[in-house]
Amino acid sequence: MTTSLWLDRPERRRSPLIGAAEADVVIVGAGVCGSAAALALSAQGLRVRWLEASGIASGATGRNAGFILQGNVERYDRAVALLGRERARAIHALTLDNHRRMREVIEALHIDCAYRQAGSLQLANGPEEAEELVRSAALLAEDGFEAQLLAGAELPAVYREAGFEVAVHMVRDGELDPVAFVRGAAAGAEAAGVILHEDSPVLDIDELDGGEVRVRTAGGELRASMALVCGNAWTGTLLPWFKGKVEPVRGQMLATEPAPRIFDLPVYADHGYDYWRQTPEGRLVLGGWRNLDPGAEVGYEDRLHDDIQLKMTRFLDRFPGLGGPRISHRWSGIMGFSQDGLPIVGPAPGSGAILAAAGFTGHGFGFAWRAGELLAAAVAGEADPDAALLSPARLR
Ligand SMILES: Cc1cc2nc3c(=O)[nH]c(=O)nc-3n(C[C@H](O)[C@H](O)[C@H](O)COP(=O)(O)OP(=O)(O)OC[C@H]3O[C@@H](n4cnc5c(N)ncnc54)[C@H](O)[C@@H]3O)c2cc1C
Repeated sequence: MTTSLWLDRPERRRSPLIGAAEADVVIVGAGVCGSAAALALSAQGLRVRWLEASGIASGATGRNAGFILQGNVERYDRAVALLGRERARAIHALTLDNHRRMREVIEALHIDCAYRQAGSLQLANGPEEAEELVRSAALLAEDGFEAQLLAGAELPAVYREAGFEVAVHMVRDGELDPVAFVRGAAAGAEAAGVILHEDSPVLDIDELDGGEVRVRTAGGELRASMALVCGNAWTGTLLPWFKGKVEPVRGQMLATEPAPRIFDLPVYADHGYDYWRQTPEGRLVLGGWRNLDPGAEVGYEDRLHDDIQLKMTRFLDRFPGLGGPRISHRWSGIMGFSQDGLPIVGPAPGSGAILAAAGFTGHGFGFAWRAGELLAAAVAGEADPDAALLSPARLR
């Protein structure tokens, strides 16, 4: 197993599920989505058991770059072309709402996760992408979203000297330490009565006659009225409907020792294939370049891709101001990519008591908190207008 920068610090391990138990709701998966569901359900006063195959945030959540971006994986001009103006606008607004909710939770629970909201920078790798950025910024402004175009001297020297000419400042974006955030949210859920079991991979989920759900692990069995599967890339391994609709895709990352601070904002370049930011202590966290070998970067294996890692290491040379820092961590992570680039959130087709959220397509911190909350709202029988935007029904 590779170890991410964020997971490279001690955390108490919760005991696995052993024997038979009952709950009102069982949650599968302790990433950002499961955490949101756990916290929201705990506020409903329900008996909640939460099962994680490995450790909390051991999936994509603990292995990402910690960007909180607005919008889906497509630039806004493409999102409008693919989804239509109204739907693209509504989904964009949902992601900003997701960010707002995360910020409220950080404040309410006093989560120390180096959260900062100063925006992000989308950088154009060439003239074609620059045109896309200009078009997207105009459409975003027309739809009431803040996006500030930076060209020529408006762009900070560090980017111009590295050969970039056009960027858009997405003013409302943010960044955080994803593991500290999820551990903090989970602690809040546990304090409110949720019982989390780590090292408890779920083997299968069955709906029994009468609508009850049975969830089996190697060491135990849970019966509950409802199950929420927050397994992202792994969802299809438990719920066959999701197989092929959500595919496991690997991403590569590295982090350096602390270096002089030259990047003030999280940066997203080459249509989001390359991304980097500096943590408050100056570590550069860099990821991407999956497009160099997309056919190989799929599947569930946690594995470094030597050529991509080398390319990432060499990219650092474009920024001499960093002073050539030593690389302290290299890791990979598995994302769930959906067919249309949007998450799939809601009742698992063909089931009355199983709900799922998956397919965040590299943007889980833009969507997954809201997704977990939407699942919890569905458990309470509340109708949320956002639910229709991401419903599995669109893929039937
Ligand atoms: C390299 C990389 C960089 C990224 N960068 C960003 C970024 O900067 N910003 C952003 O928004 N997104 C980013 N993402 C995507 C983001 O991390 C994910 O979309 C998000 O974390 C998904 O959260 P989740 O809770 O749905 O899934 P996960 O965090 O993957 O959690 C799913 C959990 O389910 C558990 N599980 C699976 N099967 C079972 C089972 N059978 N029984 C019990 N538990 C099970 C897994 O162990 C895992 O912990 C990145 C992802 C990667 C890999």
